[in-house]
Amino acid sequence: MTTILSVKNLTKQYGAFTAVAGVSFSLAAGRTLAILGPNGAGKSTTLKMIYATTPITNGTVQINSIDVQRQPRAAKQAIGVVMQDDLLATTLTVMENMIAHGILFDIPLRQVKERAHSLLAFVGLTNYENADTTNLSGGMRRRLVLARALINKPRLIILDEPTTGLDIQSRHVFWHQLNVLKQQGVAILLTSHYVDEIEALADNVAIIDHGQIVAAGSTTTLAQQLAAPSLEAAYLRVTHFDERSEQIDQTRHQ
Ligand code: ADP
Ligand code: MG
Repeated sequence: MTTILSVKNLTKQYGAFTAVAGVSFSLAAGRTLAILGPNGAGKSTTLKMIYATTPITNGTVQINSIDVQRQPRAAKQAIGVVMQDDLLATTLTVMENMIAHGILFDIPLRQVKERAHSLLAFVGLTNYENADTTNLSGGMRRRLVLARALINKPRLIILDEPTTGLDIQSRHVFWHQLNVLKQQGVAILLTSHYVDEIEALADNVAIIDHGQIVAAGSTTTLAQQLAAPSLEAAYLRVTHFDERSEQIDQTRHQ
């Protein structure tokens, strides 16, 4: 299998504080890896270093064998990003948002328009090409951000908590689209708070806490390997949920 993403000993310091402490993993074409972890664990920071929007303190990231630090622009050509916030230009229509993003990749306008039409059809937004983005529902906005992230035909899609805040139907539509992309050979790296999302999408899961991977393996066998009844139970154990809930109790009684 072709390795699309290779992350080695990735580290991020904010001053004296270590947000990501030596994280390593790789991801092959057509595979999905989920990063699961509590708030503040370092998930978003890890992703931001991979898509070259925050400097790497230590370690390396290679996308399609391109070093992200040495050739950020070339690496970005192979990535599509769905960030936590939609960051849609509210003064532009759905189609204009697609075009504006395509231009960033130096894709000729005619080609951007062709791709935008077919991507908007893929995410079910054909009838909304001329709509203002402010008139879209939460689920539609997320699908537009996904379509936009695909304009440069990425080999790797990176999604930070892609379905947080969506209703159940919208989540399932979004999952379906990601699974279609996966079948087309796209590699998918996502963070999530939802175990059901990870089970629906991911082949592998890395559980991260305090900037370190504390458990990793196949989504279907990790729980068994850790002798836990479910992935959620395994997650709670490796992130020391018991100790944390005692701390919460103590603060309540103080
Ligand atoms: P997650 O996405 O897992 O919730 P983040 O990667 O956003 O966590 O943050 C990891 C840690 O790094 C947190 O403790 C957060 O407060 C800290 N952090 C994130 N961004 C910055 C920043 N720009 N400056 C200082 N600390 C930061
Ligand atoms: Mg985050």
